[in-house]
Amino acid sequence: MEDWTTATLAALERDGRRRSAARTAVIELLGRQSCCVNAQEIFDALRHEGRRVGIASVYRTLEQLTRDGFVQRVDVGASTARYEPVHPGGEHHHHLVCADCGKVEAFADPELERALHKVEGDTGYSVAHDVVLRGVCDDCAT
Ligand SMILES: [Zn+2]
Ligand SMILES: [Zn+2]
Ligand SMILES: [Zn+2]
Repeated sequence: MEDWTTATLAALERDGRRRSAARTAVIELLGRQSCCVNAQEIFDALRHEGRRVGIASVYRTLEQLTRDGFVQRVDVGASTARYEPVHPGGEHHHHLVCADCGKVEAFADPELERALHKVEGDTGYSVAHDVVLRGVCDDCAT
């Protein structure tokens, strides 16, 4: 599997995009996440690393990457959108969201993937799917 960060930077280069320090910083940070993050978290993490990137550039970069298909916007129903790298090989996971504390957790289920692919085959639709399960997490339930 090609590293998402390398692949994304290379693809943008091939497109002849002007290099941007902010974009590179955001892409490198996203590539290290195991799950989706929001713009504020990216901004805070970059600040923490001593990278001087403005919050507006973070938003702009996320919008661009989403439009270009490198990043997927994950709608977890919270007030802020979360973003996750899209892997070219199609490997991905889905999300559980706690209605109480807003925690987002990842889950993957081969059975679910098979069921979704069957829908694709049955309907002839080429579907991009995004599954979000809402509930109350372990911590909040007790
Ligand atoms: Zn995720
Ligand atoms: Zn919770
Ligand atoms: Zn899936």
